[in-house]
Amino acid sequence: MKYLLCIMLLFLFGCSDPSVKDDRQVNSSLKEKISRKSSDISIQESHYIPFTREPYSWEKGYIGKIPVITKEFFRCKGNSLREMKTIKNEDNAPTYFFDCGGYHEHSLPIRNGREFVYPVLIELLNFVQIKTQKEVVITSGHRCPKHNSYLDESFSNQYSKHLIGAEVDFYVKGMEQDPQDIIELLMKYYQEMEPFKEDSLYAVFHRYDGSTNVTTKPWFNREVFIKFAKAEEGRNLDNQHLYPYITIQVRYDRDLEKRVLVEWDKAYHNYKFW
Ligand SMILES: [Zn+2]
Repeated sequence: MKYLLCIMLLFLFGCSDPSVKDDRQVNSSLKEKISRKSSDISIQESHYIPFTREPYSWEKGYIGKIPVITKEFFRCKGNSLREMKTIKNEDNAPTYFFDCGGYHEHSLPIRNGREFVYPVLIELLNFVQIKTQKEVVITSGHRCPKHNSYLDESFSNQYSKHLIGAEVDFYVKGMEQDPQDIIELLMKYYQEMEPFKEDSLYAVFHRYDGSTNVTTKPWFNREVFIKFAKAEEGRNLDNQHLYPYITIQVRYDRDLEKRVLVEWDKAYHNYKFW
């Protein structure tokens, strides 16, 4: 009985008059016929060949065979595999220090939402590489607070410019024993390059008489402070090598037109963990 009812319903609603077409069928029948032949070409190919210039050597990332210094070279050299360091105060109370995980763990300092190292440091180090055709080895660039304290827990070091990407320690491969020659080159940068060479604030360097952790009097102009540590001076875990090394600190921010100071927020809360 059920089957009979189904067959009746099919006849009633399933069959329609084939002469009655719905709107979709009418509209689709109005489309234009394709008149193009398969051999016809409707779009002509351009005969112009895009011009691509040869990249400059520094765009290839090399000065001769030496890698161009970029901010990547300044990443924190912390290593979380290092042992915990214990420092005891006068009352014999211990403070424990741990190293950071280095660039695997955190960024460079952040400025305007991007990782930042003072560009003058990069410019100066590449200038040295161009002039000497020798490789600059950065032993200490940015230091996060954890790595900085692990290297040197002293109060004065808590305001190191390494914390804000405004200081670098380095030597030059093949000129390890000639830091004075490299320092002369750094001064030459300001004495040769526009717009500094006409400006005595930049082109003229002075000697610094204040106290430092090295025996040779440092040099400074408006923008940078330069010192060098002899082979037995100024050592920490970032500078465990047998050579003298040079330190450049940025004193003046040309973009912001103000002195570079280590402010607590910029030093201690201005980098990202990955
Ligand atoms: Zn670090």
